[in-house]
Amino acid sequence: MRVAFVHTPYYFQEHMENLPFVANNFAVLPPMGMLYASSLLKEEGHETEVIDVKAEGLDKRETIKKLEDFSPDLIGVMVIPYTANIAMDWAEYIKGEMEVPIVAGNYGMIRYPEAVVSNDFIDYGVMGSARGVLTKLVKHLEGERESIENVSGIVYKNKDNEVIVNEPDCQTENLDKLPWPDRDSIDNSKYYTMASKKRPMTLLITSYGCTFQCEFCDMGDFGYSGRNPKDVVDELEYCIEKYGIKEVDIFDRDFLIEKDRAKEICREFVDRGLDITWSCRTRVDLVDRETLELMKEAGCRLILYGIESGNQEILDRDHKEITLEETREAVETTNDVGIETLGFFIIGHQGETEEEIKETIEFAKELPLDYAQFFKMSGKPGAPLYDQITEELGYDYFEKLIRGEIDVSDMPRPWTDLTNEELEEWAFRGYKEFYLRPRYIFKKLKNLESFSEFYKNCRIALKMIWSSLSGEYASR
Ligand code: SF4
Repeated sequence: MRVAFVHTPYYFQEHMENLPFVANNFAVLPPMGMLYASSLLKEEGHETEVIDVKAEGLDKRETIKKLEDFSPDLIGVMVIPYTANIAMDWAEYIKGEMEVPIVAGNYGMIRYPEAVVSNDFIDYGVMGSARGVLTKLVKHLEGERESIENVSGIVYKNKDNEVIVNEPDCQTENLDKLPWPDRDSIDNSKYYTMASKKRPMTLLITSYGCTFQCEFCDMGDFGYSGRNPKDVVDELEYCIEKYGIKEVDIFDRDFLIEKDRAKEICREFVDRGLDITWSCRTRVDLVDRETLELMKEAGCRLILYGIESGNQEILDRDHKEITLEETREAVETTNDVGIETLGFFIIGHQGETEEEIKETIEFAKELPLDYAQFFKMSGKPGAPLYDQITEELGYDYFEKLIRGEIDVSDMPRPWTDLTNEELEEWAFRGYKEFYLRPRYIFKKLKNLESFSEFYKNCRIALKMIWSSLSGEYASR
């Protein structure tokens, strides 16, 4: 069977936590879920194509042309709640041009299976492991399985056009048993983040999920599983040799949750002498000098820390389970061993006052951080805070959005008296105060490694200044 995956574009929507100029410019990342699915299907003898609309700079017409050239029997789209409206809009367009069944996958399918497949332009949905579900759906479509009714994890429409949600597929995806993502199907030179420095860059997933339960995060109920260190490093070594990858973003929610496993990966990087620059995300309470020194030796350039707030009571209310002191020590030690740091901060926590927001911005400036990102606290399906929005509205915002029953809007935030506009102004003030400090600019200019890095930073700074002058940061 011929299966095409269309990675629909990602751009700012009013309900997002990022400001528009960040949402639209932060990164172009490889569609890892699709690349894993593509590898699995290829392993079973199918032909696949991955069309990454944003990375390839395609419009809808050009995408259809590529699809027509490939002539698929099935088209896969990814449905994530925050961009579900975009994916549905593309599904409608594709369906209007080609009579090919469309299957939806990813996180939106796990949360809203019925709503996604009730869309007129989506024929099937897969919830759960790609190996357990997608490959079985393909077999069914090829006529190798008589009935779809008994395949767990599949969502489909019966002959009366009713949406049937089968039992979920309860197998946890064993990451070690998955083939490596199909990077042959994409142009690896197209991907970057605002903080990346080298190309080609790629993402590497060494673990899935998180064991913590922060109030605002949607990851706490997915469980955690980590890959075998040797397999992780084999994959990276292959990426370096085959695609010339120079930088990798370890895209785990928290690389250091199993610290011994992470250290083994680092030691393997060192032992094999891999020439690679990498970054990862972790919590401030999981690092220590010895681990950081090993990470540095293994090529780690940047660590992204969820710092969230400069006020201890707010951190406690969010069940973040870190202290300001731990943050200070982690960022200073990281800085000390020569690894750059990016801090994530949230504006608009439960009951947060403007004074407390100022404390967060001041804290960001006090720390020796290299980068900072300021988010508006926003609802994410699955996060404890999202329940408050559903109660306030009397319905589930993302479910209605997926069903096409409401338009995109900013969601209510019952936990704060601050308006969306006020939160945007504060987040923007965070960016301005952090990045436009003469001391910060001087330090960054001094440490520039290349002209292209200088050019990229100038573009970002100009965009920020333009946003400030034009008010685009608060645009609807
Ligand atoms: S914010 Fe980070 S530490 Fe907290 S639950 Fe989410 S991924 Fe885990």
